Amino acid sequence: MGFENFGTVSFTAEAKAADFIAYLEAGKVMATRCRQCGASYFPPKMDCPRCLLSDMEWFEIKGNGKLSSYTVVNYGPAGFEADAPYILALGEFGDGIQIFGRLSRDIEEKDIELGMSLMVSPVKLPDDRIAYEFRRT
Ligand SMILES: [Zn+2]
Repeated sequence: MGFENFGTVSFTAEAKAADFIAYLEAGKVMATRCRQCGASYFPPKMDCPRCLLSDMEWFEIKGNGKLSSYTVVNYGPAGFEADAPYILALGEFGDGIQIFGRLSRDIEEKDIELGMSLMVSPVKLPDDRIAYEFRRT
């Protein structure tokens, strides 16, 4: 399975970081880290923009992050119309890792607080698609 199964709308099937999807299938949300300069990337990059080398390793994003920003999407873009309203959030997971994604529908807007603790985990979508979302810890 490749990137064509990521999210609600198809992305390119060819991607250097296609292993990301295999890791999601295995229940892990992964980022990459440059073995040369230590920079961490999410979404994962296989080439380091800082030192221009391609010596990357994968690591799992574990533990709790913090909600740093969010927005309620009432009118979804193409491919997401039927999903709205949903909540997009930015979570900080340390090591310079910031993750942009959806909040689980289990979290109601009235319960959201900036700084609240979140975890990120894979979520199965209809039609064999897969993505990740933020959940309560
Ligand atoms: Zn680097």
